[in-house]
Amino acid sequence: MSGNPRTIVVVGGVAGGASFAARARRLDEMANIIMLERGEHISFANCGLPYFISGEIRNRDKLLVQTPERFGKRFHVDVRVEHEALSIDRIAKTIEVRDHRNDRIYTQPYDKLVLSPGAEPVRPPLPGIDNQRVFSLRTVGDAQRIRQYVEEHDPRDAVVVGGGFIGLEMLENLTHLGLRVRLVEMADQVMLPLDPEMAEWIHQHLRLRGVELILGRAVEGFNETAEGRLNVSISGEQSITCDMVVSAIGVKPEANLARDAGLETGDCGGITVDEHLRTSDPDIYALGDAIETNNGVLGGKGLVPLAGLANKQGRLAADNIFGRLASSPGVLGTNIVRVFHLSVASTGANGKSLKAKAVPYERSYTHPASHAGYYPGAVPMVIKLLFAPDTGKVLGAQIVGIDGVDKRIDVLATAIYSGMDVKQLTQLELAYAPQYGTGKDAVNIAGYAAANIVAGDVSVFHAEQLDEQVQAGGFLLDVRTAGEFRRGHIEGATNIPLDSLRDQIQQLPMGKTILVYCLTGVRSYFACRILAQRGFQAVNLSGGYMVYCAACPSKCEGIPGLHRWDRALALETFCSTPEERKIVANGG
Ligand code: FAD
Repeated sequence: MSGNPRTIVVVGGVAGGASFAARARRLDEMANIIMLERGEHISFANCGLPYFISGEIRNRDKLLVQTPERFGKRFHVDVRVEHEALSIDRIAKTIEVRDHRNDRIYTQPYDKLVLSPGAEPVRPPLPGIDNQRVFSLRTVGDAQRIRQYVEEHDPRDAVVVGGGFIGLEMLENLTHLGLRVRLVEMADQVMLPLDPEMAEWIHQHLRLRGVELILGRAVEGFNETAEGRLNVSISGEQSITCDMVVSAIGVKPEANLARDAGLETGDCGGITVDEHLRTSDPDIYALGDAIETNNGVLGGKGLVPLAGLANKQGRLAADNIFGRLASSPGVLGTNIVRVFHLSVASTGANGKSLKAKAVPYERSYTHPASHAGYYPGAVPMVIKLLFAPDTGKVLGAQIVGIDGVDKRIDVLATAIYSGMDVKQLTQLELAYAPQYGTGKDAVNIAGYAAANIVAGDVSVFHAEQLDEQVQAGGFLLDVRTAGEFRRGHIEGATNIPLDSLRDQIQQLPMGKTILVYCLTGVRSYFACRILAQRGFQAVNLSGGYMVYCAACPSKCEGIPGLHRWDRALALETFCSTPEERKIVANGG
């Protein structure tokens, strides 16, 4: 096509870079497309690396989605692996490149330049960080090194530093290899996109799986012991000994090439781009982990290093370069991770960020089943929905469960993208058959709970407000069965099971606020409706005793029933006969 750039150079040949090059070729058969990749591989599956280490993905070649040769041939792209872009001369429109294979430096001209150099693991200058047994994970080579170390040295225990998604995936995979794993995380919770009470589900699940969590502590250094092991010093004068460490404390954008060329970078250290992914130089585009993106809910810029974004931005940058003007939407950061049996996902804003930005919000917690309860294999999930208290506009969602989490988070991400409110969630017509969902799907149910709050059909309070409400004279009412109450309840509560409530209503003090709870918030909602229509002022503990125990773990002996989430799965997965199921259900 005339007017199109003749030579386009892409720096980085993995998620964003390869996606760009393939789309660019589809848009212009004649352009000279050159892909520079510092490493040996292009287009590899970083996201599969932890599973290659444990052998869940057995064959290394499965990680190599494309080889340089196949990609070059299919898309007629000049793929140059082990070629590193060293510097950019924006006036001359050239790049200085080091060809590591032939140990030479050359100058490569470009008409348009696309930067997709990704992000590198953060390796703070701690004593001993360069020890050969302190690993980090970004490339196929890193994964091979970890796997080889495990095979050759048969380590007994490992410390994973950092409880983000790479840290969690690594600790799961190292556990599968038979190692005892401890996790050190500087924050008080793992998975920072979640709010703390939702992360508590993961904490307790990890402990049930034998992982020791050391939260709220920072690693301060590493040193070899006389026995040839590694001593990991942790803030608070604690130190632990292990055979290997995986450091997964986050990534930082590889923005030096751009910065040195005088391109604008932002407060978070990423390359600044406009909605068309153009940098401060109109002939240079940037995308992927290296850029700062606009937050789709809160506004403002931030770093969101996720593969889906990099891939989509690759296509979008190509569209823009070839005259199909396209804008990048605000980023929701939709993510999902498997942590042993749990699936953990979130999208949009969380409570912490809404609070930090002083954005008013309300939240609801629901515990719907993954599919119809009467069909084998149904397991609960917990959905936290964040929404505007006045309009009900959906602002964010977090889900922890075993099954069906992925499709619910994707529906909620789509709802946020479309600007839906919680009432619209109740109206979504979602696929149902007993194996897949419920007549009112989990997303509809989350919508109903939130819409009831917005409509004023029920008032809610939250776990951290409970003490204050009781001190203000509230009467705490537990409407679960007597058996459930005996097994654990909130201190000071009076138990009147829901089905006896109408008969025993005279026991309740009329002038006081009745603070009602049950296990999940459903029975207490029914109770609130009964009480409100009989002249009481009743408020519902959102998410019930389960969320209370997650929000105030020191006041409970674990989130009730969480251990059975594993058991429920085990029942269906591992037992082929009803007899076997009964044995496992009764405690193995
Ligand atoms: P990359 O894919 O990292 O590619 C950048 C490439 O640029 C690198 O290969 C690098 O060698 C090359 N490069 C850098 N500088 C130069 C230079 N000067 N010259 C030449 N080449 C250069 N995301 C998810 O959404 N879901 C997941 O499950 C998930 N799991 C992950 C698991 C692991 C272990 C890791 C490491 C990442 C995971 N990610 C996941 C993140 C995802 O891989 C990244 O968001 C995505 O790869 C970013 O794409 P990118 O093109 O920006 O950078």
